[in-house]
Amino acid sequence: MNILYTIGDSLYVNLTNKCPCRCIFCIRDEKDEIEKSGSLWLEHEPSIDEIKEAFKNYNLSDYNEVVFCGYGEPLVRLDEVIEISKFIKEKSNVKVRVNTNGLSDLIHKKKTAILLKDNIDSISISLNAPNKEVYTKVTRPKYGEVSFEYMINFAKECKEYISEVAFSVVDEISQEEIEMSKVLANKLGIDLKVRNKN
Ligand code: SF4
Repeated sequence: MNILYTIGDSLYVNLTNKCPCRCIFCIRDEKDEIEKSGSLWLEHEPSIDEIKEAFKNYNLSDYNEVVFCGYGEPLVRLDEVIEISKFIKEKSNVKVRVNTNGLSDLIHKKKTAILLKDNIDSISISLNAPNKEVYTKVTRPKYGEVSFEYMINFAKECKEYISEVAFSVVDEISQEEIEMSKVLANKLGIDLKVRNKN
């Protein structure tokens, strides 16, 4: 079971396969692994002890960053992200990043950005679209159209608590929608990365 995997200088943490979205570009629909990770489908969600045990096979000083990403939405396991990020910071000064769809307030029915403030250095939030109509069409969230507003509010709150906040869009939306996304990100004072789905 691949709880940890590496891509370049980054060490990725795969905590869950659960996600409240069904993005039209989700890589999970096409393949089971990223680069040479091995299958990222988990036999079960790893316990805190299993995650800590997995870290014993890696020297954190070999990496530029540890990224909670996974083959699912990492903040589905908010408590584990908080505890494991603390565990990492107790061992090392390595940068800790979370890649998220930004819906953790909806998932957990509470404000969650503030809970990430102590041990998360960077967060990348999937903006995915410039408005709720396109967002809902592209990400197909189980919470419906309200998701976009929650994601934007989560991003605004992350700016208060986390030193690096970035948005991303996948180049599967139109060029006009990418430009509109840039305008929105700029208005919110958050950098936007346009990425290829792979
Ligand atoms: S948020 Fe990420 S894991 Fe979830 S469906 Fe979209 S691309 Fe896949």
